[in-house]
Amino acid sequence: MPEHCINLGLIGWPLEHSMSPQIHQAALHKLGICGNYRLFAIEPNNIMDIAISDLFDHVVSGELTGLNITLPHKQNVLPFLSDLTPAAAHIGAVNTVFLEDGLLKGDNTDAAGFLNDLAHLPFVELTPALILGAGGAARAVLFSLLEAGHPVSIAARNPTKAQTLADSFNSIAKTPIQVLPLEDHALAQISNTIGLVVNATPLGMSPNIETCPWPETLPLPVNASIYDLVYNPADTLLVRRARQSGRPACSGLGMLVEQASLAFERWTGLAAPRETMKQAAQQASKLSMNTSL
Ligand code: NAP
Repeated sequence: MPEHCINLGLIGWPLEHSMSPQIHQAALHKLGICGNYRLFAIEPNNIMDIAISDLFDHVVSGELTGLNITLPHKQNVLPFLSDLTPAAAHIGAVNTVFLEDGLLKGDNTDAAGFLNDLAHLPFVELTPALILGAGGAARAVLFSLLEAGHPVSIAARNPTKAQTLADSFNSIAKTPIQVLPLEDHALAQISNTIGLVVNATPLGMSPNIETCPWPETLPLPVNASIYDLVYNPADTLLVRRARQSGRPACSGLGMLVEQASLAFERWTGLAAPRETMKQAAQQASKLSMNTSL
């Protein structure tokens, strides 16, 4: 048990809707640890501002135990760090900062958080996976699926961006990463071969809850499990469509809790109270849905 207070926080912009304070404060409370989790809103163009280096100095001095980093700063903070975990180095983005042997180190717990939570879905090991979207979250998902040995395809509205993403990961892929446009005809062609679909676009996210990344006129792949990274609402249109047609499906709330749990464990060295953190996330999600209605 840590003898002193654990001071944590999140750097990003905007941060009003972040559920991380509720999730981490619930964990601290459950374990009886004195501590807090604060929000440090830093505007996108203020990365070189003294505020950000001050925050990292506070981690080095021990005043802060650790920091989470979210959009738009996951890549911006790289120059401030002395070392990266292999996941953060491959993905090229950091969501967790901690002190190790006196050095500031960055990790990306989104990747392992996704893979750990994916284990809750029934699907065939090493099944071909299809990622929808080619942004920051898709990078972390792609890394974890390739590390786990899956053949992966990426469908994106901007196939050039998806190809750039594929090119930067082909060296760790067992089979070449296939790229296709996020359109009916292209998805229909590979649909029968897919065992796992991962939505890494914001389609379906509040307030646009009636949007869906999978075309309305095209049935979901018949043998696929569906993982939607969107966690707000907890049951997206994609997840509801999948369940209604008998496919196993889950939203990204579990990944959100798992990436937070892995960060918490890095900072404290203690097993994260996952069930408590999950309940806090569910509660925060309900509250935020009610306030956005
Ligand atoms: P991002 O970097 O902005 O990437 C979003 C991707 O979706 C881009 O490829 C973008 O295409 C595509 N996209 C956006 N709007 C689209 C549309 N209308 N039709 C088709 N494609 C569209 O965002 P991100 O950080 O990857 O996050 C994506 C989602 O994952 C968000 O909803 C986020 O909340 C969620 N997420 C969840 C977790 C979790 O723990 N569960 C973690 C990270 C992210 P362009 O490049 O062409 O714009």
